[in-house]
Amino acid sequence: MNKGYVYLVGAGPGDIRLITVKGQQVLKQADVVLYDRLVNPLLLELTKPGAELVYCGKLPDRHLLRQEAINDLLVQYGLAGKKVVRLKGGDPSVFGRVGEEAEALDAVGVDYEIIPGVTASIGASTYAGVPVTHRNYGASFAMITGHDKSPSGQPIIDWQALATGIDTIAFYMGVKNLAYICEKLIEHGRDPKTPVILIQWGTLGKQKTLEGTVADIAEKVATAKFSNPAITLVGDVAKLRTKESWFERQPLFGKHLLFGRTSEGASEIATDLTKLGADVFEYPRFQTIEEKESELSFSDYDQIVFHSPKSVAWFFEKLKEKRIDVRSLTAIFYGASTKSIRAVEHYSCLAFPLEELGQVEKRLVIGPVALKDQITKRSELYGEHDLLVSHSVEIIEQSNRTCQRLLDEDRVNTIVFPSAEAVKVVTEQIKSCGETPESLSQRADVICFGPTSEKAAVELGYKVSETLAEPTREALIDALSEQQLIQ
Ligand code: SAH
Repeated sequence: MNKGYVYLVGAGPGDIRLITVKGQQVLKQADVVLYDRLVNPLLLELTKPGAELVYCGKLPDRHLLRQEAINDLLVQYGLAGKKVVRLKGGDPSVFGRVGEEAEALDAVGVDYEIIPGVTASIGASTYAGVPVTHRNYGASFAMITGHDKSPSGQPIIDWQALATGIDTIAFYMGVKNLAYICEKLIEHGRDPKTPVILIQWGTLGKQKTLEGTVADIAEKVATAKFSNPAITLVGDVAKLRTKESWFERQPLFGKHLLFGRTSEGASEIATDLTKLGADVFEYPRFQTIEEKESELSFSDYDQIVFHSPKSVAWFFEKLKEKRIDVRSLTAIFYGASTKSIRAVEHYSCLAFPLEELGQVEKRLVIGPVALKDQITKRSELYGEHDLLVSHSVEIIEQSNRTCQRLLDEDRVNTIVFPSAEAVKVVTEQIKSCGETPESLSQRADVICFGPTSEKAAVELGYKVSETLAEPTREALIDALSEQQLIQ
């Protein structure tokens, strides 16, 4: 039987752009993805339509059992011939139990690869503006677990060597045992005035930091109710922290956007917002399914009207398949939108806007399947015509999984509706996450691009916080920059 292949992949600490190119490549091809709690859910958006997504969120009390169950799943999927990605937070080899997973695969002879990632201590420190080593402040660096297999959960380590021998110490999973850790460090000779910085949700818009010294940080953490996931960085390098790091200074830092989408692919605006520091989730996700056959002959028409750039691409592909030279067609081309007109021009042909449609004998309209539903509107516009469906656009349901995880983690504080259609689509889809317009308006600000989307949103029950004066990228960035967040 065809044996599968397993990739044990480091997802990086949070910012999705910190995954390696290799990790991203295998994620896009995977049949099954087993992902951890600390993996940024937005990475799941890279998976192919229909990929199976298995959440392996570990509950602290069921640690051991769960790990064995995960090993079993990897083995099962591997033996079933699947291409499997085991996506783990940070680097899989750093407190990631990758050794146990690799061992389980070795035992049954399933092939695997391990793909490293940026580990949380280095990612979080860098994004907090603190280098883990520095010529003047730290020449050695250690990564230590702050939680252990010992009955008390307190780490069993050589405290003497650590306290006096290492300049910069990063504790993982250490928040609960912080008082114990600091006590041990001081007891074994570390200067109580040594600076400490805690970085929670490092490299994400949720990133928060807390500063203190070995002597007082535990109390500060308790007062601030600071919790995991956080890295505790001990050492003089922590002095290099300024009020805000390069990352926290970004204009849209801290904005977690759910950006309504109505077509396939990333929107330019969303990409720009990400560059300015926002976490952007474009939702939902679409895929185009092309119509395979067309029984109509293109040569019989005087006019051909294209309803979307996809229809244009499909048409020229079909011409090629049927070995028809475009020069043999006598039809005049029309585009229902500027984008469609441009798409035709891309093939060195001209297309005209619909206003210029004249009376003709035979007219062909090519568009997505959704056009079929608009019979009355279409007949008014086109009169007698043939309709050819080039493609359909379908929603990829697995994005609802991403959406659910983001909502669970409170990582949506702003909803952007670029159109009335987006209001409709998002509202329909997000029902599967148990959300309504009312509940969404409570957890997030709602920003609409214009009066039409505002009207649609209000009608469905949203509380709209802002409607842009102009539907532009600049207006949106201004609105987001001035926004006072609910949370
Ligand atoms: N393999 C991971 C570590 C897993 S242990 C890695 O290489 O990073 C889980 C611990 O990692 C958490 O308890 C926390 O201490 C740390 N951690 C993971 N992601 C983090 C983040 N974004 N910010 C701060 N700490 C993080």
